[in-house]
Amino acid sequence: ANVSHELRTPLTAIRGYAEALLDGGDDPELRTRFLGIIERHAARMERLVTELLRLARLDAGQEPLEPAVTNVATLLTGVKEDLGAAIAEKGHQVTVRAGADVAAVRVDPAKVHDIVRNLVENAVNYTPAGGVIEVSAAVDGETLVLDVVDNGPGIPSDDLGRVFERFYRVDKSRGRPGGTGLGLAIVRHLAELHRGSVAVRNRPGGGAAFEVRLAMLPPDLAPPPAFDADDVRG
Ligand code: ADP
Repeated sequence: ANVSHELRTPLTAIRGYAEALLDGGDDPELRTRFLGIIERHAARMERLVTELLRLARLDAGQEPLEPAVTNVATLLTGVKEDLGAAIAEKGHQVTVRAGADVAAVRVDPAKVHDIVRNLVENAVNYTPAGGVIEVSAAVDGETLVLDVVDNGPGIPSDDLGRVFERFYRVDKSRGRPGGTGLGLAIVRHLAELHRGSVAVRNRPGGGAAFEVRLAMLPPDLAPPPAFDADDVRG
């Protein structure tokens, strides 16, 4: 029911505005406006379908863990750089803190990247301009701990337990246009694949604090030294 409602809304808009164009809106300004609306709703549908298919793959166990020794500090900096345009546009200050202990941990780098990117993207989107966002990684025993903390509006306490549900959005009118309510459901799934968890709380001073805890995978045996043909030939 949720899926059909979420898909039907943009579809109805696209059809309605396409019909209006076909009915001969000659006013170029109006045409441009309608085409813009169609483009926005189509982009939203594309996001919905992409994220729904990803959740379906995760549900079906079709995205197994692919562990690799990962420099999490580099990964966090990469996410910050990827989101550089949005961060600059809102004038946020984003700091990345990662100690030497996360320079070589064994996790699934692509999935950790998606987790962090989703959380930082949310922090950037929901924090009003000029916000402060802190992204950090640390090792706690056998666990990799990732924190994404912002100084935005936070999440009303009644909604704290529900934001990881599919399609759950705190306030659709306040939410960013194009938000699907699926991002945090994907984050939770990816964390659980790592035998981990994700939690959110509000900071006493205001703002949301997301924490992801992932079981680090045991290190591989050291690979044998590289074979160098020149050594043999002497
Ligand atoms: P969306 O596509 O709507 O961002 P998510 O699943 O990523 O979907 O998030 C679910 C809801 O949780 C959002 O709609 C928003 O209401 C709330 N939320 C997520 N991150 C934050 C944050 N950093 N600050 C405030 N609210 C947030």
